[in-house]
Amino acid sequence: MNLHDSEHVAGVLDAAGLEPSESLDDAQLVVFNTCCVRKSAEDRFWGNLVSVSADAARSGRVVAVCGCIAERYGVEILTRFPGVSLVFGMDRLESLPEMLARCTRSPLIDLGDAGTACIDHLPSRAACDSHAWVPVSHGCDNNCAYCVVPLVRGPERNRATGDILEEVRRLAACGVIEVTLLGQNVNSWRGEPAETFAGLLQQIAEVPGVSRVKFETSHPRDLDDRILEVMAGTPQVCEYLHLPVQSGSDAVLSAMGRGYGREFYLQRLALARELVDDISITTDVMVGFPGESEKDHADTVDLLRRARFDAAYLFLYSRRDGTRAAEMGKEVPRQVARRRFAELSILQEEITHTALEGMVSSRREVLLEGRARRGPLLSGRARGHQVVLVEPGACRDGSLVEVSITGAGRHTLRGRVEKVLRPGGVSGA
Ligand code: SAH
Ligand code: SF4
Repeated sequence: MNLHDSEHVAGVLDAAGLEPSESLDDAQLVVFNTCCVRKSAEDRFWGNLVSVSADAARSGRVVAVCGCIAERYGVEILTRFPGVSLVFGMDRLESLPEMLARCTRSPLIDLGDAGTACIDHLPSRAACDSHAWVPVSHGCDNNCAYCVVPLVRGPERNRATGDILEEVRRLAACGVIEVTLLGQNVNSWRGEPAETFAGLLQQIAEVPGVSRVKFETSHPRDLDDRILEVMAGTPQVCEYLHLPVQSGSDAVLSAMGRGYGREFYLQRLALARELVDDISITTDVMVGFPGESEKDHADTVDLLRRARFDAAYLFLYSRRDGTRAAEMGKEVPRQVARRRFAELSILQEEITHTALEGMVSSRREVLLEGRARRGPLLSGRARGHQVVLVEPGACRDGSLVEVSITGAGRHTLRGRVEKVLRPGGVSGA
């Protein structure tokens, strides 16, 4: 969601005639789009802000801050960091050029209303021409005890079906091959009069030019059978589900207020695998939630063994002011949480590697997204969201290709391009 918001920030700056700089050192304007889901993300931002804003006054550089930390700390950012000229909320993004003109005279803060922010209609600069994020909802109505998202992003607001479809049609006409529907809880999306997410998914898949549809994040409680049936019966919908479990312990899930237990979760998983051939399922797990006992942890270990996720993103619990969990006490000592984290991580690495090895020698459809972080290879995503690295050869970024998988690393696959299915950068409709 933050990446997608940043594409809008870049789009609005492009439209105002600004150009991206080659390096951070050359930048006359730096905009930080921030996340405060975990303290580690927040701390990284404060560290970066110190170095980027230190000599802003002398060099004439303008530093602006938006996103969740802007919503949370507001004017405090201006008082603590004199090098910052502007703090703004996403609700005010449309006026960014005008605010930038004003803030050079004196520091400016304009947060608007996070609970109503809607920036979908604003210009956007996508990182890859063939892939686009399309939000179907903003904010979240869940009340997970640890989570700051509803506090900084407001209640759930669903976008109208017509707006979503129009955006997807426009993107497809510009050559976008894959869309990822976004929402904190995509499955709870509802349209007028009684449309469900399953129906929306089907309509998106039918837009001419759209070859692949993914969606995230799914909530186990709201992932109904119909969604799985649409996944199974609609070739454009990729065989990929990100289904955060958070914990394998019923006691912890209940304290978190997640609205499901481990058996329910495992049943959803079994049904997804039964209905959707070759499905890849990933998850999020939180380690060290207040009160998590050794028995609770053992339940999570057991769940990971049973579920055999294709990948799991592990997070150490991070106390966030304003959440219910922050008031629970019973904090798990850091070294205990770290030990549990390491144990889960070793287990999951083994499971992930085995799953990747099982794909060696198969052929996969891959959307090439751009250069790998290191080295000369191109990086892409299979339909199951696995990262696949290939020699660039004659292939362009943004192409949809067929790849033979030749090797499996710890988190990525290696492969050889056999055939270009659809070249990148070509108008679809
Ligand atoms: N709406 C999505 C994403 C929420 S944030 C969902 O419900 O899954 C992404 C992940 O960050 C969560 O799944 C959770 O595992 C993790 N997370 C959220 N708040 C956290 C906190 N306070 N401490 C540690 N991890 C957290
Ligand atoms: Fe946070 Fe829970 Fe909403 Fe996800 S579903 S954003 S974890 S409150």
